Amino acid sequence: MVLVADDDVFQRMVARISLVEAGFDVVEAADGAEAVAVVERDRPDLVVLDVLMPGMDGFQACAAMRATTSGAMVQILIATAQEDTRAIEQAFDAGATDFIAKPIPGRLLGYRARYLYRSGRNLADLETHRARLTRAEEIARLGSWELDPETRTLRCSSQATRLLGHGENDTVTWQQLLDRIHVEDRDRVAWTLESAIRDRHDFELEARLVLPSEPDRVAVLRGEFDGARQRLLGVIQDITERHQIEARIHHLAHHDPLTNLPNRTLFRDRLENALARAQRDGSRVAVMILDADKFKDINDTLGHGVGDQFLQTMAQRLQESVRGSDTIARLGGDEFAIIQVGLNQPENSEVLSNRLLKVFRTPFSVAGHEIRSGVSIGVALYPDHGSIPDELLARADVALYRVKGEGRGQFRHFDPSMDDDLRARRELEADMRRGLDEGWFELHYQPQVDVASRRVVGAEALIRLRHPDKGLIAPNHFIPLAEETGLIQPIGEWVLRTACRDAAAWARAGHALRISLNLSANQIHDRRVVELVRASLAESGLAPNRLELEITESVLMRDPAMARQVLEQLRRLGVSLAMDDFGTGYSSLSYLQLFPFDRLKIDRSFVHQLGSSDHSASIVRAIVALGKSLGMAITAEGVEHAHQVDILERERCDEIQGFYFGRPVPDAEFRGGLAVPVAAATEMIAALA
Ligand code: C2E
Ligand code: MG
Ligand code: MG
Repeated sequence: MVLVADDDVFQRMVARISLVEAGFDVVEAADGAEAVAVVERDRPDLVVLDVLMPGMDGFQACAAMRATTSGAMVQILIATAQEDTRAIEQAFDAGATDFIAKPIPGRLLGYRARYLYRSGRNLADLETHRARLTRAEEIARLGSWELDPETRTLRCSSQATRLLGHGENDTVTWQQLLDRIHVEDRDRVAWTLESAIRDRHDFELEARLVLPSEPDRVAVLRGEFDGARQRLLGVIQDITERHQIEARIHHLAHHDPLTNLPNRTLFRDRLENALARAQRDGSRVAVMILDADKFKDINDTLGHGVGDQFLQTMAQRLQESVRGSDTIARLGGDEFAIIQVGLNQPENSEVLSNRLLKVFRTPFSVAGHEIRSGVSIGVALYPDHGSIPDELLARADVALYRVKGEGRGQFRHFDPSMDDDLRARRELEADMRRGLDEGWFELHYQPQVDVASRRVVGAEALIRLRHPDKGLIAPNHFIPLAEETGLIQPIGEWVLRTACRDAAAWARAGHALRISLNLSANQIHDRRVVELVRASLAESGLAPNRLELEITESVLMRDPAMARQVLEQLRRLGVSLAMDDFGTGYSSLSYLQLFPFDRLKIDRSFVHQLGSSDHSASIVRAIVALGKSLGMAITAEGVEHAHQVDILERERCDEIQGFYFGRPVPDAEFRGGLAVPVAAATEMIAALA
């Protein structure tokens, strides 16, 4: 579209004819002000502007058009009087694209307009491309540059100039570019670019940029040598954000989010480095693994939120206790590890261990709770106990296991005999797993006899593992490991189902006996046990009052509130509860009252001494009195001799269990014994033993 601005109607008409012939749409304006308004509104491609108009003349109109956004790029053709060179100059000064002398001959205006239109289009296209390129460079935070190796003249795109911290229109010299590179990276950059020029190859490298009054940035410089033009062509791209994200990802991959300490991956890297250094200078390295003694309790009782805060406080304490050169990591759960380098060993790891034990003796204050938790520490030394990270970690772990086995709150250095222990534990664990699959577990039943009638009124189910090669393995040997590994869950389930099924079968055969079985700590601290008991009773058809569950005192200490809930739910099912091994633990009366026990089993260590020590007789008397006062029935365990039976009868004990009446035996044998009166059975068994 062409705008013709002329105050003379005739001139406008002539121009219109010529332009329409040339294929243009035409709009008209009768003065300068109107012309400017049309340009703004209709955005013509070309303006033919007469100089002499009333009001705003052609020059003024031209300048005004150039000042508008739509007029900035339009092609403006000013029509001047012939030979008026001053007017021509004035026209260009006002921003005209070209001029034409009046009167305009015939078709000339059409041709001229077409030519101007085409070149205007090209110019506009070029401008669009340039703008697009600049925008693309901005979006990519990428600028381009070109270096003449001969003269060392650098030409930068405006974005490149800006990235280098200069004004968009500044020229940047080769030296100024290098000056912006971080001193530590500068030589490398200069060297890489020089060798790209010399050997004419591509290059790519990252470098830090130091900009005035701005944080440092990271840029990548990439390019190639253009042989035809003998120029080094390059781009510079700001990759600071990407770099930051990468750094963040790297950090996340190497740190524990909870404590922000190095994780196992980073720990192993650091350990590898420490070992390489120690190998060079012949020094030793200590690897320590620590474990909070009460973490599980804290988590179970106070919840994971408090557990997490506890771990954070623990991490903080550890950090405050070691030197800057030592690495602390969280390996997982409540397991932390330390690398101690460049020191006298084992003395220094001993000193640090003692310091940590002491630091952990101070209670923790977490979320309003005062928490006491010691630590257990296992230590392995390079090169004494291993030369690669995994070996050292495994051996520190073995030492830690040993500490835990010995009652926690200590430290120990690895010693080779511990490895055998560990191997044995692994083997036992594997045996238990296989045992579950292949039916190696057995329940043996030991009779419980009513003192007054001397009749068998119940039996305790005691588990054994019958290993095809190793023979019969006693529960004290594998139950603790089963608890530690979680295998107690499937094993406990098997015990419950089997015992209920066997007892239901006895009842069907006319022997209505009570069955007792042992529940371990982990079972009591897992609400699923209630459902399991219900299901076992339902499946077997055993009357709930025929089932008694034995729990030791120590089991209740871990989380009394939770234990009480579970015990009460169990009792609501109609089963009875017995406190096992009474006298070996805290034996606190006030404590006992909190729990709904029906029976108290006196530990065999007291029964054992009956007759040989008056002291034990008075203890038994006190326990019986205590139990009765709380409405509990009393069973004595570990009765082996007739005189013990006499004393227990005198002390008004209700039931007796022990080798004197019968050892734990497999189900079939136990049932066989039931057919025979107790006294005769006792003789038979005595004869067998
Ligand atoms: P406990 O519940 O106190 O069981 C009594 C233990 O004393 C049994 O050892 C039994 O054989 C033994 N015993 C009975 N009478 C006498 C006697 O007159 N003299 C002597 N010296 N010992 C006698 P056992 O079968 O080796 O079981 C040891 C412990 O293993 C049990 O102590 C119980 O705490 C645990 N246990 C056994 N079976 C299971 C089970 O199915 N689940 C769980 N969680 N623990 C079990
Ligand atoms: Mg028991
Ligand atoms: Mg017992």
